[in-house]
Amino acid sequence: MSNVIFDGHNDLLLRLMQRSEKEPNKDPVASCISGDNRGHIDLPRMQKGHFAGGLFAVFIPPMNDTLSFESMGNGGYTIPMPEPMSYEDALPIAIQQVSILLKLIEASNGAMRLCTTRANIESCIADNVIAVILHMEGAEAIDEQLMALDVFYEAGLRSLGPVWSRNTVFADGVPLSFPATPDIGGGLTTAGKQLIKACNKKRILIDLSHINEKGFWDIATLSTAPLVATHSNAWSVCNSARNLTDKQLSAIKESDGIVGVNLATCFIRADGKMTSNTTLDELFLHIDYLLEKLGDTRVGFGSDFDGAVVPKEIGDIGGLDALRDAFAKHGYDDALQRKLCSENWLNALGRVWGE
Ligand SMILES: [Zn+2]
Repeated sequence: MSNVIFDGHNDLLLRLMQRSEKEPNKDPVASCISGDNRGHIDLPRMQKGHFAGGLFAVFIPPMNDTLSFESMGNGGYTIPMPEPMSYEDALPIAIQQVSILLKLIEASNGAMRLCTTRANIESCIADNVIAVILHMEGAEAIDEQLMALDVFYEAGLRSLGPVWSRNTVFADGVPLSFPATPDIGGGLTTAGKQLIKACNKKRILIDLSHINEKGFWDIATLSTAPLVATHSNAWSVCNSARNLTDKQLSAIKESDGIVGVNLATCFIRADGKMTSNTTLDELFLHIDYLLEKLGDTRVGFGSDFDGAVVPKEIGDIGGLDALRDAFAKHGYDDALQRKLCSENWLNALGRVWGE
């Protein structure tokens, strides 16, 4: 039995929402459960890939879709950050995606389960059920008074990024830019500081993956929780503004946090290109580097499935065996493989959630 893999980030909900907009007479939830073979994730492929589950992101896409992977194909790019989005515009989209997630779980007929604790995730793994953690990538759907935070928490929200690569009323994001450092823009706003305090109080994980350096350091100072980047790589290996500098990595280590290694090729490759012609050797440069900087208990995965181009050897979530096979070939022993696959994530979530 291969090690199940727990994952820090996927964009399945965005894909299903966009599909329902393009094909309103089809039911994207039903076809995801029966296997739509689109994007990177559906239920049969999750099961084939021995996917333990992970953080499922609610993400509000830019109004006029400025994101294009083609423009990242040649390396050397700066995609301007989209305009901030209002709470009023973002809220219905967030509700739609949470609703898709709840429908998905219901339609899975027991194959997927919403988890709000580490103990829940452990039960899922024991029962061979996919563990679903509700995450928000960017806090556009949270108002400055944090009323929506209370409501989404009750709906199961246990992880939140104050920003995606777009500024919010709470903090500034990093643009998708290569080569560039994450030291762009300002720190936490007054409302941002309130948000961090509220997340600490509720023990909601604060995801640092898309935040700029000033915001990162403000949170490092203010937050009482371990520092977590759910889907980011090492800046020293790939100079993308989305990756983490050595200084940031040492702060994450000091706080006993975790980094989820991102499979998005634009954050892996030394030339910053978004292309599936990327080898797992290139990915291992990051894993080894992160293991060296963070120690072997603070590295996991954050695939970015359904939100990026991944190495063709993996292809989609059904191809996770290629990653497992590569661990052994790369010389990782059984204990380290278990840590990378799920143990480190479960322990980190336990530390954040107070279990
Ligand atoms: Zn992301």
